[in-house]
Amino acid sequence: MMNTIATAIVLAVAGALVAAMIVMIRISGDDSGKHTDLKQFVEALFGGSASLAASKETPEERQAEKAIALQAAAKQPFTEPCPACGDPVTHQDVDCPSCGLRLLSPQ
Ligand SMILES: [Zn+2]
Repeated sequence: MMNTIATAIVLAVAGALVAAMIVMIRISGDDSGKHTDLKQFVEALFGGSASLAASKETPEERQAEKAIALQAAAKQPFTEPCPACGDPVTHQDVDCPSCGLRLLSPQ
């Protein structure tokens, strides 16, 4: 009985792996550029001994890139309507010059 269950589990895992590989091969063959990140992940996965390190670093690198992008965006000049009165406010305005609404959260 235990052997049957173990065999079923192994078959299920093997089937899932085969299905995942088929999906990955399809994605890696897709040249639309839509799945570029996933493609890189797949290439790293099948790339050999460096695969573990690569797949570990990718999300962290993305987070770091996102943080840098957010920092850059916060520093960049902008002009947008005040959420309260609709008058244009810029990155230089801590408070809205028209209605006095606090615009920038204290750093
Ligand atoms: Zn305002």
